[in-house]
Amino acid sequence: NYLWGILTAYNCSSVRQWQQWEIEFLKHLANQVAIAIEQSQLYRQLTIANQKLQQLATTDGLTGMANRRQFDRVLMSEWRRLARAGLPLSLIMFDIDCFKLYNDFYGHLAGDDCLQQVAGAIASCVNRAGDLPARYGGEEFAVLLPNTRGDGANLIALAICDRLETLKLSHGRSSIGPYITLSCGIATAIPSLEQSPDTLIHSADCALYQAKDEGKNR
Ligand code: GH3
Ligand code: MG
Ligand code: MG
Repeated sequence: NYLWGILTAYNCSSVRQWQQWEIEFLKHLANQVAIAIEQSQLYRQLTIANQKLQQLATTDGLTGMANRRQFDRVLMSEWRRLARAGLPLSLIMFDIDCFKLYNDFYGHLAGDDCLQQVAGAIASCVNRAGDLPARYGGEEFAVLLPNTRGDGANLIALAICDRLETLKLSHGRSSIGPYITLSCGIATAIPSLEQSPDTLIHSADCALYQAKDEGKNR
């Protein structure tokens, strides 16, 4: 009971009555075309739904960045790809300084807003095709830089910290200063198929903890 379209047949050569079998034939044909149209519409809806699902499964809802699941997937595939190519992979891990105090002072909604701003600052400095900025955890971000050595990763990390500094996001309870700051750790490796990419995360994490230990905002 749904109009999918109109099928019209003209008999132009001479005036005559349509035969019953011809009418039945055209009805049958119209039914088949209707089924084909309906199926193609359902298929199109399914494709759109799948794209939406894919987007939801790979993106962080708050920041719009790649989420942890997507980060893990890309890390694994880049690790394998660069192991074959013998090229370096760099990882920067960021953690917002004194963010619990920010939430306590300004409230959770303002905290969410701040996370969005920090994510924007990080993403705006990462431009090369294949580079992946991601939200790693609550107030932790990661940037994956394929085919990038330590010195290049260092420049990007500095550019991100500089960008954040220019935003001057007030933090009235930070032990560092009046604005939001980041601590970061960088690790670079030439991947090997004998090793897990977890070694890269572990190294960047150790460097991050060292940055926290040595006074944060570095
Ligand atoms: P440090 O300088 O050592 O990193 O201290 P910190 O306070 O930043 O770190 P800690 O791990 O103690 O606290 C992290 C806080 O991040 C806890 C929580 O209040 C906040 N947080 C985590 N996820 C979210 C989020 O999605 N939204 C908001 N608003 N806050 C979050
Ligand atoms: Mg943290
Ligand atoms: Mg923190």
